[in-house]
Amino acid sequence: MFRNFKMVTQVVFGRGCFNQLDDILAEKRRQHASFMVFAVDDVFKDTDFASRIPLKKEDMMLWVNVDEEPSTIYVDALTEEIRSFSESLPAGVIGIGGGSTMDIAKAISLMLTNPGSATDYQGWDLIRNPAVWHTAIPTLSGTGAEVSRTTVLIGPEKKLGINSDHTVFDQIVLDPEVIADAPRDQRFFTGMDCYIHCVESLEGTYLNTFSKSYGEKAIDLCREVFLDSGPESDDKLMMASYFGGMSIAYSQVGVCHALSYGLSFVLGIHHGVGNCIVFDHLEEFYSEGVREFRQMMKKNDIRLPQIPRKVSNAEMEKMIDVALVLEPLWENALGKDWKRIMTRERIGGLYGLILGERSL
Ligand code: NAD
Ligand code: ZN
Repeated sequence: MFRNFKMVTQVVFGRGCFNQLDDILAEKRRQHASFMVFAVDDVFKDTDFASRIPLKKEDMMLWVNVDEEPSTIYVDALTEEIRSFSESLPAGVIGIGGGSTMDIAKAISLMLTNPGSATDYQGWDLIRNPAVWHTAIPTLSGTGAEVSRTTVLIGPEKKLGINSDHTVFDQIVLDPEVIADAPRDQRFFTGMDCYIHCVESLEGTYLNTFSKSYGEKAIDLCREVFLDSGPESDDKLMMASYFGGMSIAYSQVGVCHALSYGLSFVLGIHHGVGNCIVFDHLEEFYSEGVREFRQMMKKNDIRLPQIPRKVSNAEMEKMIDVALVLEPLWENALGKDWKRIMTRERIGGLYGLILGERSL
């Protein structure tokens, strides 16, 4: 069976198109006669950018904090906050921020119409009811969260997305000016998320012409951005993220993402940084990609952060558990026979390599 997947319904792209958000929302306000929830990364509190958000007096401003990656507990709490703000459903949820904030916006729009906790829906196609209309304005580019059918959350047991057709944004507003002021290192790490998506998709067994077409374009754009850094770098990075996301939509990511999820679950290392730390050790799987990644780091004068602390044996076992849950990723990377190839011991060995002296 071929996947019949849902895509973002409406897209606006261009420098300054953030100014169109008010008009886009006006249409929704007319249809639903209700309030809007703006879920905005709190890094923008008291900035000029925040003052451009088209907030009306009936709307709810929900500042979200992404110092830690989004968790199911946090999503449940934010959903409750919206429910106590009003008994009626909002007309829309607008996520303004990087991948973490976009994922929070997706998750709360789902949880407003589905009972229970976000934890209950971590997995594939567990969501039953359509979400509240939701839109995103990325302020960092690379994750592809703006186009994907998942919202990645840290739950009590695992880091796993709520993957469903209802998760997909109804509208995205892609304004390259909005990502222009992102901190240099963060821009690189999130950009590398896109680069790694492309390598893992293009070298995976799930590859097909659909994914290849998007992946090849996205990886070329990443090269232009991180090896040439010519004009229109923000425009290119924004489209690379979009195309990279589309590439994995019809294939999967691979070894780096599976291992990086374990690292982030146990050590709280953010996705982009975690991917870079892991990818740097994956020559045996992606030799050409790792070589080029190192070239990009050098060209952009980036140093990888250190692993923050030692990992106990119990934590190592947990990291292996978290990585092993991600079966489609391993299958994409290594083929149907992956369980024979990628044993617990081998994953432990890879984590040992990545952690170096930080493993016990
Ligand atoms: P992020 O959203 O976690 O933000 C990283 C840091 O940058 C934060 O401190 C944030 O406040 C700050 N920031 C964001 N935009 C800024 C700006 N314009 N100026 C200044 N500071 C800014 O980073 P990210 O790499 O975009 O997202 C990572 C998250 O995305 C992870 O939680 C990961 O799990 C998730 N993710 C989701 C998908 C998906 O398909 N849903 C795919 C990949 C990653
Ligand atoms: Zn990723």
